[in-house]
Amino acid sequence: MEIENLTKEIRDYAFDKAKKKTPEQVATSWYNEDLKYSGVGKTLFMILPTPGCSWALGDSGGCSMCSYVSDCTLEPIESNLIVDIFKEQLSKYPLDEVYEDGEKIAIKLFASGSFLNPHELPIKARDEILKILSEMDVIDEIVVESRPEYVKEDVLEDIFSIIGDKLFEISIGLETSNDDTRLNKINKGFTLKDFEESISIISKLKNKHNIKSKAYVFVKPILLNEKEAIEEAIETALYCEKIGVDRLSFCPATIHGATLIERLWRRGSYEPPWIWSTIEIINTVRQNINIPTLLDTSGFGSRRGPYNCKKCNKELKHLIIESNLKQNIIDFDCECKANWEADVNHSNMNYSKTFTKHIPLY
Ligand code: SF4
Ligand SMILES: [Zn+2]
Repeated sequence: MEIENLTKEIRDYAFDKAKKKTPEQVATSWYNEDLKYSGVGKTLFMILPTPGCSWALGDSGGCSMCSYVSDCTLEPIESNLIVDIFKEQLSKYPLDEVYEDGEKIAIKLFASGSFLNPHELPIKARDEILKILSEMDVIDEIVVESRPEYVKEDVLEDIFSIIGDKLFEISIGLETSNDDTRLNKINKGFTLKDFEESISIISKLKNKHNIKSKAYVFVKPILLNEKEAIEEAIETALYCEKIGVDRLSFCPATIHGATLIERLWRRGSYEPPWIWSTIEIINTVRQNINIPTLLDTSGFGSRRGPYNCKKCNKELKHLIIESNLKQNIIDFDCECKANWEADVNHSNMNYSKTFTKHIPLY
């Protein structure tokens, strides 16, 4: 409850100060190599303009580490305008030429929240966008993100009636398989049972549609030490494979502005994970499960992101990006590794048995 109140308070303060953004300012896109289901290939990433994640805009204040809502319009957007902006972003890339070369690409549509929530992306805009994609032979994989409560059989049937046999992946921010961490530290607002229900809906539809699921795993939520963060991320990955998730993406913490994680970080009560921790996670997981695993390197080596030392940050970032495509184990050494090991091995040194009633942050 304390975490929810703090998150809400910080979010409300940010909304009061926020400068409104236009839908055109919010939308953006980029084009990169990525790991598709069919192997390494080109992927078009696009941020669609939306009013913002309903969970962050509602009474909960949203998740303690996320400020995607501050990159949104905070106001409803006409479907026609969303579709026009989508077409304009799409027209920036010479996709016909790519197809002529015999290549097919994936498109990742980010709604800064839930693509499947009609209050964030109106059904009319969603269907029009999917119709355009269904007519593009160059696109064979469509990836979207959603909270589990919007993953519904009738909604997915509607989507497949438009996109036919194109692959459709729904990425869900599970963050951790530990309910206490997800509910009370991340303030995520859904349980493991909710997540399992959404995965079972997706699994059931696999016998007639080309549908896949991906889970995001958040590395180092607040109030977890380095060792716990590593262990929880690994446990979460093993759990996800067991219940039938098709792919995993680890998202190591970076400090977003106007969030609870930022407040703790500013007051010296939180640090993003070591890059070594993320490598420990990805290497362990790749040796123990068979589904593809990706490690997001956003913010690596920056003041607000995962860090090691100036000597190895950059090189490791490149090695991780390469390993995401090859799915290999990362083998690397640097003198800073001993500091990381000391940090992990002494993570619990300051543990107190005293129950903490309040986090003194007011
Ligand atoms: S992590 Fe997802 S659900 Fe949580 S506030 Fe951000 S966009 Fe919303
Ligand atoms: Zn180093």
